[in-house]
Amino acid sequence: MRFHVLTLFPDMIRNGFQTSITGRAVEKGLLSVNAVNIRDFSVNKHNRVDDYPYGGGAGMVMQAEPVCRAYESVVSGISSEKKPRVLYMTPQGKVFNQRMAEELSGEEELIFLCGHYEGIDERVLEEIVTDEVSIGDYVLTGGELPALVIMDAISRLLDGVLHNGESAEFDSFHDNLLEYPQYSRPEEWRGKKVPAILLSGHHANVEKWRREQSLIRTKERRPDLLEHASLTKEDKKFLAKLEEV
Ligand code: SAM
Repeated sequence: MRFHVLTLFPDMIRNGFQTSITGRAVEKGLLSVNAVNIRDFSVNKHNRVDDYPYGGGAGMVMQAEPVCRAYESVVSGISSEKKPRVLYMTPQGKVFNQRMAEELSGEEELIFLCGHYEGIDERVLEEIVTDEVSIGDYVLTGGELPALVIMDAISRLLDGVLHNGESAEFDSFHDNLLEYPQYSRPEEWRGKKVPAILLSGHHANVEKWRREQSLIRTKERRPDLLEHASLTKEDKKFLAKLEEV
């Protein structure tokens, strides 16, 4: 997987991605990040890439031409016939979720476009953007953090990125269920004991307990997810029993 990020702050992308699990994945060659500085494509002798909005109003708008040139420079370096998807980070986009991360993890190349100031001239967005994506209903100063969030969520789904290949499979949202609670050593911490079943060594019982905990948590914290969860007959019976309590 190759991520290309069109941004005014390439260091933010490089620094944000080079630590921990994603940094290790880059070192292992499982993915790469190409942070492209839109300012390098300025058509202005002062290297400016923004200007006042037509019609007046507060703030500045990123101009179409430097963004388009930065995009063209990336596309010209991609050999594949298929044009890569271009994800514009915007609070006006579709709200990102795990299902979108799973879908995007099947792409070979992805281009992220990060806005700043009041955003980007609409005309270039119409020309190059395939997906408008938001990370939630709040407004940030720029698209770099949203791009990092989405790249991180995609990365951990790629083969070989997580040490334990099974981890992503049981994470929250994978199946529209939240994950069960996790415990580690010691067995007793400040008077609180690890649930005895987890120490029993009985694999089937542990799995059953975890599934039930997932159902309880999802019902309590995110009941909206249950509508889309793939539930077995036993799950439904268990949830019905919870209703009776
Ligand atoms: N004036 C714009 C609006 O009201 O839609 C907001 C511009 S915001 C200050 C600057 C940039 O931050 C946006 O172009 C976008 O790239 C990014 N951004 C801000 N909030 C975001 C969010 N919730 N999700 C994704 N990107 C966001």
